[in-house]
Amino acid sequence: MEALPESQQHLKDKVAIVTGGSRGIGRATALALAASGASVAVNYASSSGAADEVVAAIEAMGGKAIAVKADVSQEDEVEALVKATKTEFGRIDVLVNNAGITRDTLLLRMKLTDWQAVIDLNLTGVFLCTRAVSKIMLKQKSGRIINIASVAGQMGNPGQANYSAAKAGVIGFTKTVAKELAPRGVTVNAVAPGFITTDMTSDLEAEGILQFIPLGRYGEADEVAGMIRFLAADPAAAYITGQTFNVDGGMVM
Ligand code: NAP
Repeated sequence: MEALPESQQHLKDKVAIVTGGSRGIGRATALALAASGASVAVNYASSSGAADEVVAAIEAMGGKAIAVKADVSQEDEVEALVKATKTEFGRIDVLVNNAGITRDTLLLRMKLTDWQAVIDLNLTGVFLCTRAVSKIMLKQKSGRIINIASVAGQMGNPGQANYSAAKAGVIGFTKTVAKELAPRGVTVNAVAPGFITTDMTSDLEAEGILQFIPLGRYGEADEVAGMIRFLAADPAAAYITGQTFNVDGGMVM
């Protein structure tokens, strides 16, 4: 990917944290924000090589990035992630709460550990990162928080009781925090992807799912990143808060 022309670098001098920025939608988002001029903290949990590769790609387009290892379901690691970003770049303008996992199985077979692991990362992680970053954004009187939800949180999906509960939680959380932070110029929105080609969906059987996607294909990570980049952009998305935007080929309408 190449940096956008100067006139289209709407995120110049902005600083973004992308949780789970090493792979999939997070990787595409880190690259898209950097192409628009943002400096990016690329968070990862274990794929240090992949995170380093994202940082190198951003530097190759003339941008600034750091890779930061942190399990965002852990309070102390989230504090360290935010501190490392602030120390390196001086401010935080955009938080993309993207890190997520699945532990799919039908309800009666779902172990408490399957439930807890998904809630801990996909919902509690969003809370921890948002709380830590909002302190900084409230002082700055500006900021953009973008939470990655899912169509599963809107329409349910057999085998994903844990995941859909967490993602529905993210949508409710987005609305409350949008109301709390709006008076200080911080917007909070959610993006709900449908089925996007990433490692997370690599073992899904396409045939059965495609019939429920009006556009007749899986989405690409770049197509979700485009919506995230729009929501981060100033002034384009300045008057939008508390909303959930579907990028799902028409699955939910
Ligand atoms: P993915 O390719 O599996 O990537 C997941 C990312 O999350 C990786 O960068 C991973 O880091 C990171 N991660 C995992 N556990 C973490 C932890 N404890 N702390 C910090 N980072 C952690 O997933 P994806 O498909 O891009 O999904 C990204 C987001 O979109 C998720 O929230 C997912 O629920 C949502 N979503 C995806 C789809 C889809 O169809 N793909 C649809 C709807 C919603 P490592 O590389 O270090 O493991």
